[in-house]
Amino acid sequence: MCYDVVIIGAGPAGLTAGIYARSKMMSTLILDSGRVGGQLVSLYPEKGIHNYPGFETIQARKLSDKLYAQAESMGCEIKENEKVETIDNGDQELLITTVKGQYHAKSVVVAIGMGSFKPKKMGCPGEDEFEGRGVAYLLPPKEEIIGKKVTMFGGGNSAIDMALVADSVTDTVIVHRRADFRADESTVKDLDASGIRKVMNANLVSINGTDRVESVTVSQDGQEIVIPTDLAVINIGISADLEDLKRWDLELTKEGLVKVGFDMSTNRPGIFACGDAVAYDGKVKQITTAMGEATTAVIMAHKFVKKPYWA
Ligand SMILES: Cc1cc2nc3c(=O)[nH]c(=O)nc-3n(C[C@H](O)[C@H](O)[C@H](O)COP(=O)(O)OP(=O)(O)OC[C@H]3O[C@@H](n4cnc5c(N)ncnc54)[C@H](O)[C@@H]3O)c2cc1C
Repeated sequence: MCYDVVIIGAGPAGLTAGIYARSKMMSTLILDSGRVGGQLVSLYPEKGIHNYPGFETIQARKLSDKLYAQAESMGCEIKENEKVETIDNGDQELLITTVKGQYHAKSVVVAIGMGSFKPKKMGCPGEDEFEGRGVAYLLPPKEEIIGKKVTMFGGGNSAIDMALVADSVTDTVIVHRRADFRADESTVKDLDASGIRKVMNANLVSINGTDRVESVTVSQDGQEIVIPTDLAVINIGISADLEDLKRWDLELTKEGLVKVGFDMSTNRPGIFACGDAVAYDGKVKQITTAMGEATTAVIMAHKFVKKPYWA
């Protein structure tokens, strides 16, 4: 079988591309190297999203579930744990090779976001030793943290949002290395109105314990402070790994992102790209912009494949 479109990545961009492709009745396969949902499930499943139109607030995991359900109900074929390795030119078609097999497609939409991303580490004593035993990079589900003392590290939207979620069920402290947060003003206002203890201008020195984390030591104004902690959540950013793109003969920026035209086309005929993986002047990395680009990418893929008389 030769699919009309193979979409690489099942984050918000890839799932939106799938929904639009099926509305054009294109045979559609979506491949993801991990789980459906992209950053929403892998990086911040418990966080509330406050800027997704149509929902005052929606938990990231729930938004992902809704997109997944819509893409499936419209007839997208979706395969998880299937990392794409190469995209080669075949006779009149593209050959997509994954860790599990090979697929034929008339067009491809690349929506791999930040690639195989990983949370950034603090690099302090105790961090690796206690990972999974009181050190986490994602906030566990609320039910699992009731009664635990949570210390959140970070100063962006995500760290504050997760701290607010934690604070709704347990005692929470937030530690930030600067005097001000870099999160949205409305998020900082919610933090100020909460009971969360803020420890500003403070750096993490060590994570301490015997079998599990018992406390963290931070330094502030030259003094060391010990904060009793059962769960240290480190939320200081993500390292992207976009090595896959280098193997796909796509023209990249010096930052390693895919160069796209205004129509989300790449340098390779029949291959379009969208979402966090692309770069153009004025690019913004948000869910809504990723979805808008996905819409354009797949409509252009449709024109490329079906060549409708009006295109
Ligand atoms: C902590 C945090 C909080 C955020 N909060 C918000 C918010 O509140 N509102 C908002 O609008 N935006 C927010 N964002 C940004 C938003 O999550 C991204 O802009 C969005 O996820 C981009 O979607 P995407 O589909 O392009 O990429 P991703 O969500 O990164 O999805 C890409 C998918 O591609 C897969 N993939 C990677 N490589 C391969 C491969 N070789 N083969 C197959 N699959 C592959 C990955 O497994 C992943 O599932 C936040 C980001 C972070 C990090």
